[in-house]
Amino acid sequence: MQTVKMISEVRDLIGKVRLEGKTVSLVPTMGALHVGHISLIKAAKSQSDFVVVSIFVNPTQFGPNEDFKRYPRPVEKDQNICKDCGVDVVFKPSEEQMYPEPNLSWVNVEGISKSLCGKSRPRHFRGVATVCAKLFNIVTPDMAFFGQKDAQQAAIIKTVVRDLNIPAEIRICPTVREPSGLAVSSRNRYLSQQQKKDAAGIYRSLQSAEKLFQSGTFDTGPLKEKIKDSLSGTSSIDIEYISVVDPETFSDIDHIEDRGLIAIAVQIGSTRLIDNIILE
Ligand code: AMP
Repeated sequence: MQTVKMISEVRDLIGKVRLEGKTVSLVPTMGALHVGHISLIKAAKSQSDFVVVSIFVNPTQFGPNEDFKRYPRPVEKDQNICKDCGVDVVFKPSEEQMYPEPNLSWVNVEGISKSLCGKSRPRHFRGVATVCAKLFNIVTPDMAFFGQKDAQQAAIIKTVVRDLNIPAEIRICPTVREPSGLAVSSRNRYLSQQQKKDAAGIYRSLQSAEKLFQSGTFDTGPLKEKIKDSLSGTSSIDIEYISVVDPETFSDIDHIEDRGLIAIAVQIGSTRLIDNIILE
């Protein structure tokens, strides 16, 4: 496994791999790798010949009062995980490499970036879309792997690739959960033991809505109420939003015809957590 910091080095390596006729996949991450990331890397390994994992804590997707500074950066542990997973290249650029000053060009996905998480994080998806477009241009992957846990992000990246004619296929992998049901996240390490226990209620609340859906409730109002009720006993959880949307367009729906995505964001102490479930 090679770790490279320079864009030119990645381009050279990919050029050589292309001459060998190999397919290339990219797994974009911010590091602090966990079993969720590992599931994406394994999927990439099984579906392509050459796997690039990028590790870059992208400053432009954090708001001014968010956790950019305290975001975990366990460099050596991440390296070992990548090595153990059989990753071919870790691309770990500096901020200067990715954003030579001044960065004047941005990728903005209209509409879909404004709802759900976009409401409380107005520049977040612009940062995500821009860094992913940069990574796609640098690595030129045949396919890139993202997690369903960040469903809105996945939908936005699919839109970027479609609208900007980027020749990469976006593959979405299921959310990996702890035994308690809590979606695994780099930010879970900010939680105390008690907060972690409380946070497991998020998925339970989504499951309670799923049960109601399966028993024939297709209007989204009662489904959202069910989630609120389920979380009402946990005073440490502040609900930011509960939304039911079309999984492709992310527009709000009042009634689920075929498929609906219930997305939730909560605050527990100073930690913001998101989760979602697809009903069909
Ligand atoms: P991050 O490092 O948080 O930017 O995440 C990098 C990628 O890992 C994104 O595509 C996430 O959606 C994905 N990911 C994060 N947590 C999970 C999880 N629990 N299960 C599956 N994928 C995940």
